[in-house]
Amino acid sequence: MNKSLSVSRIKLLISLAASWVIVLWAAPAQSQVEVITSIKPLQLIVQEIVGQRFSVGVVVGSAGSPHDYSLRISDIEKIKLADLVVWVGPHLENFLVKPVQKYARHSLIVGNLPGVRISAEEHQHGERDSHDEAELNIDEDLLRLDPHIWLDPIYAKKIIEITSLKLIELDPSAAQLYRANAEKFTTRLDDLDRNIRSKLSNSRDKGFYVFHDGYGYFVERYQLRQLGSFKFSPETSLSVRQLTVVKEAIDEKKVSCIFQEPQYNGQFIEELHKNSGVRIAALDPLAMDILVEPGGYINFLQKFSTTIYQCLNDEEQTGKR
Ligand SMILES: [Zn+2]
Repeated sequence: MNKSLSVSRIKLLISLAASWVIVLWAAPAQSQVEVITSIKPLQLIVQEIVGQRFSVGVVVGSAGSPHDYSLRISDIEKIKLADLVVWVGPHLENFLVKPVQKYARHSLIVGNLPGVRISAEEHQHGERDSHDEAELNIDEDLLRLDPHIWLDPIYAKKIIEITSLKLIELDPSAAQLYRANAEKFTTRLDDLDRNIRSKLSNSRDKGFYVFHDGYGYFVERYQLRQLGSFKFSPETSLSVRQLTVVKEAIDEKKVSCIFQEPQYNGQFIEELHKNSGVRIAALDPLAMDILVEPGGYINFLQKFSTTIYQCLNDEEQTGKR
């Protein structure tokens, strides 16, 4: 073995290594697609479809609620940069109507697919301006739909279907990845639906109240017994009137649990629990506490259904605040 040969081999190896570096460095540039979703549960769903290919952005992240969100300048920038904005629609994110029409390259409304339910009552999300609605040509029927679609794993399968088709259209080189991930995700949602159904099957006669009437899809899907909703705003302390409303409801019907949400003040909840004696648990309908990671959406609905099961069945309440 002569010396010059091994030197040239080393040179060859170095140049091969260098070309690998170039290839690896260039790899992320293949994915030029920027996708942003309106709310975190949609971010979890879309991230599962795109896998590791890129990170999906979100407008209303863990800190906010679409019910009273005001758009920031940085949100407008995100919308301008995005190739695709995935949102529920004007019946939830009223604050996105104008920016999406004005700046979004592509947008996808997922809150009007077959299986959507009519809202049981007027449910305002954010500031709504009827003048704007006429001007922007928003369908009146759309505004009557229940926007809380992300709490139903069966509806989520439809979101996966139309979102993956849109992604394939915008980023055809990754079509195979999107198709495979969508298929895997759909199968996992069928499993999840079966698990939730069997977990909650013995809880159907247990009545509960909610603070925010946003659980219609979940309640219908799993035939739960929601007795009504208390329309209390998250105040600092419990008023006599509020306590009377709760006590009357408890006397009238057998109430196993009241579900609150993270925006309610801890002291208010504590007082309500102490003075009414009813179990109270916190639901996280916007997935605020859920990590954006593989299986994020599945974790979200698993945790959500476990909180409901535990409160209805008087088990240790991990979701209680
Ligand atoms: Zn709502």
